[in-house]
Amino acid sequence: MPLVIAIDGPAASGKGTLARRIAQTLDLPHLDTGLLYRAVGARCLKDGVLEDEAASLAAARMLDLATLDADSLRDAETGAAASIVAARPAVRAALLDLQRAFAARPGGAVLDGRDIGTVICPDAPVKLFITAAPEIRALRRYKELLGRGADVTLDGVLADIRERDARDSGRASAPLAKAGDAVEIDTSDLGIEEAFAAAMEIVRLKSGGR
Ligand code: C5P
Repeated sequence: MPLVIAIDGPAASGKGTLARRIAQTLDLPHLDTGLLYRAVGARCLKDGVLEDEAASLAAARMLDLATLDADSLRDAETGAAASIVAARPAVRAALLDLQRAFAARPGGAVLDGRDIGTVICPDAPVKLFITAAPEIRALRRYKELLGRGADVTLDGVLADIRERDARDSGRASAPLAKAGDAVEIDTSDLGIEEAFAAAMEIVRLKSGGR
């Protein structure tokens, strides 16, 4: 079985940074699946049709991995729109094959998101669930957004994170949840190097030296 590494967790938990580093270290392709929902959300925002389920489904069906522009999708408004369209089962279903095809690459792959270990790759040999306290995640995201020149407040970012947590965990379709066989890493008190070392240790243990 190819080395599929499934990484899930809430917004700004550090899962994206870890996924990128793990992929780089193991020379595996990486898919940030949040970008798919962000691209659909951004399209709907642009067209003024965020409330329109059919429009979000059409946007999901038209999505092309090759044209995803990560930098333009990272802002807070797009994140909130992503979490709205991501609660729609038809949108999730439309994005399923693309994610599974990515995971089925012969050499393996790293995917990060909310439902990778539970729905997209339930048989992945390595599953990580990355968490951190909401206040810590808000501070990280706040600094990141400030660095991009965004006009945000820490309170505003924390409110956004709490709202997104509630929507992502409370939705009926593929809610944010730790898979039974996932290993949890709480990064609240860990620097990036410590979190990376902990994650790589689990990858080594679970992948059986592949
Ligand atoms: O990870 P990121 O913050 O970029 O994800 C944006 C939104 O996309 C999340 O809040 C979540 O609602 C949705 N998402 C999802 N399933 C995934 C990845 C992201 O529902 N696998």
